[in-house]
Amino acid sequence: MQPVRVRFAPSPTGPFHIGGARSALFNWLFARRYGGVFILRIEDTDLERSSRESEENILAALRWLGLDWDEGVEVGGPNGPYRQTERLELYQRYAEQLLSQKDAYRCYCTEEELAAEREALLAEGALSGYSGRCRNLSPEDCARLEAEGRKPAIRFRVPDNQGTIVVRDLVRGEVSFDCSDIGDFIILKSDGIPTYNFAVVVDDHCMSVSHVIRAEEHLPNTPRKILLYNALGWETPQFAHVSLILGKDRSKMSKRHGATAIEQYQEKGYLPEAMVNFLALLGWSAGGEEEIFSLEELTRQFSLERVSKSPAVFDLDKLNWLNGHYIRQSPIEYITDLSIPFLEKAGYLKTPLTPERYEWLKEVIALVRKYLVCLDDLKDHVGIYFNEEVEVLEEEAREALTAPHVPALFEALARLVLDCPALSAEAAKGLLKAAGKEAGVKGKQIFIPVRAALTGSIEGPDLDRIMAILGKERVARRLAAALDRGL
Ligand code: GLU
Repeated sequence: MQPVRVRFAPSPTGPFHIGGARSALFNWLFARRYGGVFILRIEDTDLERSSRESEENILAALRWLGLDWDEGVEVGGPNGPYRQTERLELYQRYAEQLLSQKDAYRCYCTEEELAAEREALLAEGALSGYSGRCRNLSPEDCARLEAEGRKPAIRFRVPDNQGTIVVRDLVRGEVSFDCSDIGDFIILKSDGIPTYNFAVVVDDHCMSVSHVIRAEEHLPNTPRKILLYNALGWETPQFAHVSLILGKDRSKMSKRHGATAIEQYQEKGYLPEAMVNFLALLGWSAGGEEEIFSLEELTRQFSLERVSKSPAVFDLDKLNWLNGHYIRQSPIEYITDLSIPFLEKAGYLKTPLTPERYEWLKEVIALVRKYLVCLDDLKDHVGIYFNEEVEVLEEEAREALTAPHVPALFEALARLVLDCPALSAEAAKGLLKAAGKEAGVKGKQIFIPVRAALTGSIEGPDLDRIMAILGKERVARRLAAALDRGL
């Protein structure tokens, strides 16, 4: 196999979508799997819609996902610059080459003329390719039109009798395109900006790209690209078009099916590990039942042979499941660190944390993480550990507090807790039992009212661990407050 050089070539024109991130991941995995090079090129030729802000978002999202690049914007490399608007001379040079070979010509038609032409063709029921009006202009014609103040675009001359073009695609197999209706197309606009197909061909060649792995929506562009490769005498790279992403209802993935921008998932507290795992399964599978894959495992196993031709289905439940998995299974320090900004945002924490506070927080996170789908859910689960008071709103919890044995139980427990030198979870377990003994009750008769008083609910994580997290004073205060309320 030739040296693998792949690229991810986003257009920085808006939010960074799931589909783009999947293309980036597949390219990255392919490069890493085969010891190749992963290039990041910015396709910013749509001057109106492109922005640096959007570019920065894409870079930040790639870094967040753990996808580093070997050549490209910010890191540089031998084939730079890596932003298309900084490569205009190069496109100019190859457009000139095509002009001199007569594979391209200057076209002086104005937007209005082209629009009128399209309309006329449509009215006749003809396909709306370019009519070829400027195909055979003489140098004198050109001089006259230029004297009128017209600035020419450069159009590629599609070879006559261009029949079928076959794209040999590593995912889709051989795909034939009938090219009889491809009209001559613009490669360089009158302002010197290249069009998409031309810029991509020049760049992929100049960057020695070996494999073009991208979304299926670009497949119909590929015949035009092949025509350009042929005219320039360049070898085509290998193509691999990855299928569309559909919603669960099998319509094209859109906002209706869930957030489409990577950033939105990051903001909600999805873990990059879950996102990478999920994106990998959007069109690729390892072949077995296994669904949990780290980036390292994916790097070992990824291959284009296992990328499916059929559309991938975006299943938010699966992403939620994966995220829950990584929240539960990752090292507790890691999840704690990721949780801090979410708790800060919710007003529960102020950083920096003292080492003691950090250790305490770790206990809280360890206790509640099994309830989370994403880290943004934390705010709904941690109030009882951060707030001074707890409100007992649940009907069943209120009722549990009215049992006749509760005053004796709570008084005993409060006393034992305050007397205890350090309220660890282990100690709390013993004290609960001892207080029950004093009040002449055991099991649920102890746990349910105590839990109700401490948390306002009759369900939740381990009571002894909750007590250790709350600490002696808060436990005693909450028991007393519950009794006051009940009296
Ligand atoms: N700039 C194109 C896009 O963002 C990618 C083109 C390609 O991968 O060839 O869709």
